[in-house]
Parts: sequence; C-alpha cells; structure tokens
Amino acid sequence: MTEILSPKVLVIGGGPGGYVAAIRAGQLGLNTVLVESDRLGGTCLLRGCIPSKALIHAAALYDEVRATSEAGGRFGIRTAAAPSIEWSETIAWKDGLVDVLSGGVATLLRKAKVRVVDGWARFTDAKSCIVQTAKGEIAISPEHVILATGSSSLELPFLPFGGKVIGSTKALSLQEVPERLVVVGGGYIGLELGSAFARLGSQVSVVEAQARILPQYDAELTDPVRKWLERQGVALHLGAKALGAAGDGLEIETAAGERMVLPADRILITVGRQPLTQGWGIETMALAMNGPFVRVDDRCATSTQNVWAIGDLVGEPMLAHRASAQGEMVAEIIAGKRRRFDPAGVVAVCFTEPEIVSIGAFPAEVQSDEVVIGHFPFNANGRALTMDAAGLGGFVRVVARKADHRILGIQAVGRHVSEFAGEFAALIELGAVLEDVAGTIHAHPTLGEAVHEAALKGLGHAIHI
Ligand SMILES: Cc1cc2nc3c(=O)[nH]c(=O)nc-3n(C[C@H](O)[C@H](O)[C@H](O)COP(=O)(O)OP(=O)(O)OC[C@H]3O[C@@H](n4cnc5c(N)ncnc54)[C@H](O)[C@@H]3O)c2cc1C
Repeated sequence: MTEILSPKVLVIGGGPGGYVAAIRAGQLGLNTVLVESDRLGGTCLLRGCIPSKALIHAAALYDEVRATSEAGGRFGIRTAAAPSIEWSETIAWKDGLVDVLSGGVATLLRKAKVRVVDGWARFTDAKSCIVQTAKGEIAISPEHVILATGSSSLELPFLPFGGKVIGSTKALSLQEVPERLVVVGGGYIGLELGSAFARLGSQVSVVEAQARILPQYDAELTDPVRKWLERQGVALHLGAKALGAAGDGLEIETAAGERMVLPADRILITVGRQPLTQGWGIETMALAMNGPFVRVDDRCATSTQNVWAIGDLVGEPMLAHRASAQGEMVAEIIAGKRRRFDPAGVVAVCFTEPEIVSIGAFPAEVQSDEVVIGHFPFNANGRALTMDAAGLGGFVRVVARKADHRILGIQAVGRHVSEFAGEFAALIELGAVLEDVAGTIHAHPTLGEAVHEAALKGLGHAIHI
C-alpha cells in the first residue's frame, strides 16, 4: 500500500545542503521530510571533504615519520626503523570517521523531528514525488520542495571510469596505494588526492591542460604548492592534453606537441563536477536552467513557485559550506523570515601541501593604483618556524582599497593556513579595514600574527619585517 505524506517541506538530498536545510526547517517547527537514496552526509561526508581530509592527514603523518627516518632523525627525534603503512587499517579508520559523522547527521535530524525517507525521489510534477523504499512506495505532496541533489564527477568521453580509470570516489576507497598514479586535472581535488598518494609512496604525475596548476589562483599563491610537488617528485605536465589510455598508461600530448605515454596503475580523472539533474524528473518541474545548473535567484527560489534549489545543483562555487549556508537560509525563508543569499565572499580552501586559503579579490583583479597590498612571509613568523612551516615561501597577503583601507581580498599559502578561513571570512563579511586588523591583538606565538603583520604592512609599518 502506498503511504501518503503531505509535509510543509520536502528536502531531496541528504548532503550538507539538504540535511542542514532539513535540520533548520525542523528547528523552526516546520513539518519536514528528507529523502536520501544513500547514507546521510552526501558527497561531502561520504566521498568528498571528510574522507579526503582523513587520508590527507594520514598520508602527511606517514610522510613525516618516513622523512624523519630517512634523515636519520629530525628535531632530535629518531625512529628505530622506517615506518610501514597498513593501508587497509588507514581505510578502515577513514570509514569509521565517516560512519560516526553520518550517524551524527541522523541523530541531528531525529532531534529536529525530521522524517528521513530512504530511497530515490522521482517527481511526476513540481509538487508530487514518489519514493520507492524497502518497505513500499511513499507518495509525497509537499507545500515546499528544496532540491539539494548535489553533483557527480565529470567523466572524459575518451576515458570513461572503469578498470584503471577512476574518479575521486573510487580514489578514496582504493584497496591498495597505486605504485604509479596519473592524475588528469590539476585543480584542488586532483592535487589534494595526488599529494596524499605522493606522500604515501605513489609515483604521481599530473596532467593539466592549462599552463599552471590550480589555475583559479594566481602564480604567487600556487608557487609554494608547485615547489612542494616538485620536491616530492611529482611530475607536472602543464599545458598538456590527455589523449586516451594506451599501453600500460595514459597517452598525452605535451605543451611542446610531443606525444608520450605516462605509465599508470591508476588514472584518476578530476576534471570537474556536474550538477545531478538526471533521473529524478526535473523535466516535470518547469525549472529554468542556468547552463547545466538549476537557475535560482538570491533567495535560492527557482522559476517554479515554492520550489527551491541549493548547493552544487545551482552552480559555483561548489563547496559544502556554501551549500549549508543556502540550506539554512531557505528553511528560514519558508518559515517566514526575510533572508537573501548575498555573502560578501565565500572562502575557499585547498588542502594541498602547503594549504591555500582565499576569499575576495586577488591582486590581478583590481587596479593596482587603487589598492594597497600587504604581504607578510611565514619565514618571519616565530610560530611558523617552531612548526617547521616556514619553508616553501608561505605568506599572508591582504588586498585593501587605497582610498579607505577596506579589505577587498585576503589570501594565504602555508602549512595549516586552512585555519584562517574563519578569520578571513569574518573580515570580509564585516567589511573590515586594515586598521581593524592592525588594532586587533593577535595571540603570540601563532600563525595568525602573520595576518596582523600583513595588515600592518599594508599600512606601511610592519614590525617584524
Ligand atoms: C573529493 C572531494 C573533495 C571535496 N572537498 C571539499 C572541501 O574540502 N571543502 C568543501 O567545501 N567542499 C569540498 N567538496 C565539495 C563538496 O563535497 C560539495 O560542494 C558538497 O557536498 C555539495 O553539497 P550538496 O548538499 O549540494 O550535494 P551533495 O553533497 O552532493 O549531496 C547530494 C545528495 O543528494 C542525494 N540525491 C541526489 N538525487 C537524489 C534523489 N533523486 N533521491 C534521493 N537522494 C538523492 C545524493 O545521494 C547525495 O547524497 C569536495 C568534493 C569532492 C568530490
């Protein structure tokens, strides 16, 4: 027998967009149903942010111990023997974290009195949804729909996933550390995973069509990452095209127009992500599109009344925290609050070695005579030295309007700088000026003193340089 539900809010997708929307809707007392076909947590928790950062952490720890062993000791620490890695235990540890967090999401949804339906949602019109569950069919006719179906990895037509050709999901659950890994795509996902496997002992090559890695950042920011990759023995084929599988690897055309085969046990394709718009009846909902994405306005309203869309489904930047912020906002709008999605910036973090964090304007995006740039290197920061984090040329850089010192952008590259994400976002969101940062006492000894000093430098009177 078909069960029939008529909630106020139906959320499709249990990723960081959808589950946050559902929790907030539940907190606001709205009768809410969330449909998810997989475990709760979405791309972020199951096959994205969390598992990748877990493996990056384990790889970094292993690499530190290995380097210490190879050097015959570092900082006075010696290891009796070279470390070894029991990869199945690493994967089990990572999977354990995912289990705990996914279970935590289920608990939070229960606490917010959200009903979770386990199955694939299909719409027959904008307000009619059918879910086939293990216990039978559920028909849902909500007043509001929040679409948060997320995204999936893009495949290259001439290198479809299968065999040795894999996407990021498979890379995060490989049964073995590949001896030779070729990464196609030098964006943040490819480089995070490539760096982790390089630290685990894989021989890694990166093939990137553009002339630089991480092309969304400027060369000053990416140079420390490039240097680290080269030092780690990662081969960078920039301005190169992947042509297809050949022999025991990947055939590429180099920037110089030469063809060569990069031997590979695994070929990891990280050339981008596409919104998940197939297989759930989007065509029945009369939604206007924005290229491949669902078009929304600044309230995340689609072109169909009371149908909202959030997260990766609605475009760049495809980031978990942006999906969550939109989800929270839409729940509040449905509950009658006046909200708009108009952040002053969305901070982005790249968990390579060293890390990159950035928000707002880059120097190249502004007229150089209209801004001041404050730049402070980590090799002049005491805490960075105590953490062995001063090498490779890390720094904090602040871009401020010359006229009023308003901070337009702020970036950093260096070890552990992902921890600056909150401070950077707050500075931009609160419309801080250089004097605000200069007048804020930053604790000593911390990496954050470099943020203070970068602002002082912008004002023309840095102390420690
Ligand atoms: C390897 C990797 C690393 C990443 N690292 C970071 C990072 O460090 N920081 C960051 O901010 N972002 C990161 N991201 C991006 C981040 O994961 C996404 O931006 C985020 O998950 C998007 O959230 P979402 O809720 O829009 O969609 P998703 O998380 O993709 O969730 C969508 C959910 O909807 C479900 N679904 C879809 N259609 C249906 C249907 N018809 N019926 C039922 N269920 C359905 C899916 O099963 C899925 O669980 C990473 C991504 C990858 C792949």
